[in-house]
Amino acid sequence: MASRLGLAGVNLTIPLKERALELMDILTPAARRAGAVNTVSFMGGRMEGHSTDGEGFLQSLAAGWGWSSRGARVVVLGAGGAARSVAFALADAGARRIMVVNRSPARAAALARSLGDWRAAGRGLPSRAADWRLMLANADLLVNATPIGMHGGPSPVPAGALARGLAVADLVYNPARTALLLAARARGCRAQNGEGMLVQQGALALERWTHRRAPVEVMRGALREALNTLS
Ligand code: NAP
Repeated sequence: MASRLGLAGVNLTIPLKERALELMDILTPAARRAGAVNTVSFMGGRMEGHSTDGEGFLQSLAAGWGWSSRGARVVVLGAGGAARSVAFALADAGARRIMVVNRSPARAAALARSLGDWRAAGRGLPSRAADWRLMLANADLLVNATPIGMHGGPSPVPAGALARGLAVADLVYNPARTALLLAARARGCRAQNGEGMLVQQGALALERWTHRRAPVEVMRGALREALNTLS
């Protein structure tokens, strides 16, 4: 239907990303590894499925902090679609260690296994603040890839576990200042929300369809306007 409208492609979000996998004629390696499609390109009657989420995430870190993931020790909270995209992108970018921490420990272990090398491990959520502190003491980057904190919800991590020097990336973008980001900044951590990733993944999709540089700042402005209207 969308291809008959003359569109070059479409960008997908929850709950279509996983469902779209089996409908594609071609999957890029990024989509296969992410287990999800967020960018569909219509190519002469065939559909190519790609995922720009992981690359968008890395670009948001680079744009925000000049961050390089090479050698980084990372804790990823969550083991769903977003965690998977981010974890694979970090592994490809040379992260030294990736700890996947999830409510369902089996899903954390499965994601760590699928990352397929000695750098990754999976576990359940720590039950005590002291265990959170211990786990994060040896991390350079914490990524919240769960929906905890959306719409004014609590932080997924006890504030006292956030040590100065830790960089915190919350994939949640609504609200812009999540409880996790506020706690992180109060503890002297660098912190960014999911806006940058959302904009960058969209910009990468647009560039794939148009083969032109995307107007990233225009897109960021449009997103902020839309979020303000919603809130
Ligand atoms: P998903 O596939 O449904 O995965 C959700 C993950 O969060 C699972 O690991 C789940 O644990 C965990 N979780 C959910 N509710 C929880 C709770 N109450 N307590 C503890 N853990 C909980 O969702 P997703 O697509 O990965 O998205 C995750 C978040 O990332 C959402 O907030 C989404 O908006 C955001 N996101 C942002 C961008 C962006 O561009 N900024 C892109 C994609 C996603 P279990 O495995 O135990 O169920």
